[in-house]
Amino acid sequence: MADVTCTRCAQTREGFDRAPFPGAIGARVTSEICRDCWGQWLKQQTMLINHYGLNVMDPQARQFLTKNLEAFLFKAGREEGVDTSKQGTINW
Ligand SMILES: [Zn+2]
Repeated sequence: MADVTCTRCAQTREGFDRAPFPGAIGARVTSEICRDCWGQWLKQQTMLINHYGLNVMDPQARQFLTKNLEAFLFKAGREEGVDTSKQGTINW
C-alpha cells in the first residue's frame, strides 16, 4: 500500500491502490488524496445528497457533486455550504 502526501490534510498517509472515482479526478485523488480525507468526502457527499434530495442518476446532480468534491478535496472553486434554510430549494 503506497503512502501519499495528501493535498488536503498535508499528512503522509495511506493512499489508494485503485482510483475510487472515475476519470481524471479519480487519478488525481489517487495521487494526491489520502484515504482519511476521501472518507470525509464520502460523508460530506452523503450529507449533500440527503440535504438537497439529490438523485445521483441525474447528470446535473452528479455534476454538482463533482464540483463539490473538487472544492472539498482540492480547495478548487466554490464549495456548497449546507445552509439549512435553503433545504430543497437548490437552484441549478
Ligand atoms: Zn488527507
